Amino acid sequence: MFDIAVIGNGMIGSAATRYLSAMNQKVLAIGPGEPADWQAHQGVFASHYDQGRITRIIDPDLAWAQVAARSIDVYAEIEQASGITFHQRAGGLRVSPDVTAPVDNVNQAEQVGKELGAIYSRLSQAELARQFPFLHFSPGTVGLWERGGAGYINPRSLVQAQLTVAAQQGATIVRETVTGISQRKEFVELSTDAGAHYQARKVLVAAGGYTNHLVSRKLDLRPKAVTVLLGELSEAEVKRLQGLTTLIWRLADHPLLASIYAAPPIRYPDGKMYIKIGGTVKAPHFMHAPEEFRAWFHSAGDSDEANALRDVLLTLLPGLKVESYQTKPCVYTLTAHEHPYIDRLDDQLFVAAGGCGSSAKSSNELGHIAALLVEKGAWNYDIPAKVFEARFK
Ligand SMILES: Cc1cc2nc3c(=O)[nH]c(=O)nc-3n(C[C@H](O)[C@H](O)[C@H](O)COP(=O)(O)OP(=O)(O)OC[C@H]3O[C@@H](n4cnc5c(N)ncnc54)[C@H](O)[C@@H]3O)c2cc1C
Repeated sequence: MFDIAVIGNGMIGSAATRYLSAMNQKVLAIGPGEPADWQAHQGVFASHYDQGRITRIIDPDLAWAQVAARSIDVYAEIEQASGITFHQRAGGLRVSPDVTAPVDNVNQAEQVGKELGAIYSRLSQAELARQFPFLHFSPGTVGLWERGGAGYINPRSLVQAQLTVAAQQGATIVRETVTGISQRKEFVELSTDAGAHYQARKVLVAAGGYTNHLVSRKLDLRPKAVTVLLGELSEAEVKRLQGLTTLIWRLADHPLLASIYAAPPIRYPDGKMYIKIGGTVKAPHFMHAPEEFRAWFHSAGDSDEANALRDVLLTLLPGLKVESYQTKPCVYTLTAHEHPYIDRLDDQLFVAAGGCGSSAKSSNELGHIAALLVEKGAWNYDIPAKVFEARFK
């Protein structure tokens, strides 16, 4: 009998497991690791199977900025305790073609950044060109250049680090997939694909895009198919781009994409260096059934989205020499209020899901909030519960 079982060894679940195991709780964390062969894999995937996720404080939304800042503050502590490094202080740019446009939020993001003490400079187009000569932006562009802890994290390594420390603190980590949740009077029984059964007094469901496949009362979660483009770069091209930061860029009048984000060249498990670009499409494709997820993760993503991303990349970095391109499918799990759901579903079941495409950097603090809620059984945090309240279909 465990005190608490966490379903999902992903970004938020692994953080919650680390915090819960430090609270003197007997914790079980259940969830599969990354499949070695994506095409052969018939089970669940995750939203963190990559080498780079942008981290930054500056954000137009105060709660997002707060959980990011609090997470960034403890990266070094997690790296030290686990012996696993995952944080690169590469800096970050948030760029707007026109800060006076009604849809624009760069000024709002700057206010929030200031409030939270982010280290940044506001750059005009001429200053951007001086600082980042390889980037091309049109006249009138404004950028917020954040330093300090801004940059990127390796999400696979962060999850590994969280689970390493959780295991050191006594958590039991099981690499199985939960197939059923049965609530009894005194405990919850979890069945897995290995035919095993586990019992816990409380359960935190942190299964990302798959959360609604496990809970009986369906949450208003909107798992969205997204495509990532990776451009392989030679070592010479990587050297030319030295000093490139992460980037979030609102696009003016693109037919398909509202904005893009990009990460500087990062080494991938095949030993090669890739520059990464992804974006927010104006007409999203949502998925719900398990077979839709499987088919999406078995695909190479959406070719129109990938082509649009490639064109933006080549406009942004004129003359970029790309050796080869790869596309990858991934999933953002959106929520009704654009914050994750961290809430109590009943006396035994809790949820922490709905990363909204923005939770990697903040996953540590989101897991912390979830751990506090599960352990106490009631909200116990300085950001109001309403901000993370679960909404149902
Ligand atoms: C392409 C892309 C780019 C992104 N870029 C950024 C970025 O730059 N910065 C940023 O902050 N965020 C970014 N994100 C968002 C971030 O990666 C997600 O918000 C984050 O991974 C969500 O964490 P999670 O724990 O909710 O989900 P996940 O990390 O997906 O973890 C969920 C876990 O649940 C497990 N699971 C599912 N079903 C079951 C089951 N039945 N039993 C047991 N386990 C189960 C899965 O195996 C998985 O490990 C990006 C996401 C994508 C897809």
